Amino acid sequence: MVSLAIHWFRRDLRLDDNAALHAALDSGLPVLPAFIFDANILDKLGNRHDRRVTFLHQEVERLKAECERVGGSMLTAFGTPVEVWKQWVAQLADEGFRVEAVYVNRDYEPYAKERDGAVLAYFQEMGIAFHGRKDSVILEKDEVLKDDGKPYTVFTPYSKKWRKVLTDKGLAERPSRGLLDRLLSHAAGPVPTLAEMGFSREPGFKYPGREIDAGVLAGYAERRDLPAVPGTSRLSLHLRFGTVGIRQAARAGFAESEKWLTELIWRDFYQMIIHHFPHSVDQAFKPQYDAVPWRDDPEAFAAWQAGRTGYPLVDAGMRELLATGFMHNRVRMVVASFLCKHLLLDWRLGERHFAEHLLDFDLASNVGGWQWAAGSGCDAAPYFRVFNPSSQLAKFDPDLRYVRRWVPEYGTPSYPDPIVEHKFARQRALDTYKAALQPVAS
Ligand code: FAD
Repeated sequence: MVSLAIHWFRRDLRLDDNAALHAALDSGLPVLPAFIFDANILDKLGNRHDRRVTFLHQEVERLKAECERVGGSMLTAFGTPVEVWKQWVAQLADEGFRVEAVYVNRDYEPYAKERDGAVLAYFQEMGIAFHGRKDSVILEKDEVLKDDGKPYTVFTPYSKKWRKVLTDKGLAERPSRGLLDRLLSHAAGPVPTLAEMGFSREPGFKYPGREIDAGVLAGYAERRDLPAVPGTSRLSLHLRFGTVGIRQAARAGFAESEKWLTELIWRDFYQMIIHHFPHSVDQAFKPQYDAVPWRDDPEAFAAWQAGRTGYPLVDAGMRELLATGFMHNRVRMVVASFLCKHLLLDWRLGERHFAEHLLDFDLASNVGGWQWAAGSGCDAAPYFRVFNPSSQLAKFDPDLRYVRRWVPEYGTPSYPDPIVEHKFARQRALDTYKAALQPVAS
């Protein structure tokens, strides 16, 4: 039997500077990369044209082709992870290979941890070593703790400590590409087609590019809040799937923009929070906020989803989301605040809508952003901070360039009147939150 190591790609879809792939290639064993289209995730997606699935598929095909170009190969399958692993291990044994070790980059979401626990149990049974590496964040889990050893729940002190803890080694490249001649040449079958998995491609859809634009980073501090201009990196999809590595991004942040680096630290912060506080995925981080009596108003929710609230900045954002799978961060904050405060609808409804449509959907950052807006999060906007969508518009899109792009009928009779009056809605939110949080707020 020939011993081999497998690198299991998940949210690290690149050959460059990949920590676990580097460790596998460095193990002395021939390496076979692998990817599983996880049926536990894909079967739950309602939209059979889901743009993330198409992106994933395109990137897996690209990775496999890259491996083949350097004389290697890549296993791919559609199924539930434990079952796929059982088939692969048996099939490789039939071909004379013994899987000695499996390398992965760690994932901190509750489902990912459960999946890895189940797979680990099977590997232990089979005597296969399972090695995890840190790759999707700069600092993880318990690397940035308060002096009392507990995790931070407030961002500013966390970010200060993060900067102290980080060493040059933390950002150093893990040069996986130079070692690719150690990939195993193996007759792996074709990548499962989208149709075999029950999906199809949306014709003509274009994904954001993966280049880190130094010019954008240089002007980031001044332009990041203006949704009409290309003032932010648009890298979120790539950071989500690891098609751009976070160490490469952080190195660019250190070189070009401290402000941008701080956003990457927010990303680490939310990954750390989901690791330590998994309950916050669907419960208020601060439990007393689960006492807020959210309204039940399907019509208002539908108007918000469709971008027909009568508030042009909110509507522009919601339509941008549906058309492109992206929404500018400033606008995400405004639409989220509008849902939770103006409409008094449960933040979980908004979180799920974003989860369905955002190309960059990332459970930790999405829940973090939504709980921030609802006031219930670990380091959230206080409940009495209610964004005024009209002043936000005047400040961040004063010449209406963003609004006109997404709401062309704005200013004509076909544009709807506001579904709720600002002053009334603001007061209703303040009164409702205050009553629900009485023992804490007073
Ligand atoms: P840039 O401004 O160029 O920032 C660079 C990178 O830093 C981003 O790509 C992202 O990886 C990270 N980042 C930036 N802002 C934040 C932040 N506030 N929290 C965590 N990471 C951040 N981001 C997601 O990646 N996935 C989500 O599902 C998501 N949901 C959100 C929901 C709400 C309600 C809010 C208010 C924010 C959410 N964000 C989410 C954070 C932020 O809006 C996006 O990361 C950002 O708009 C992506 O655009 P960009 O790549 O041009 O960002």
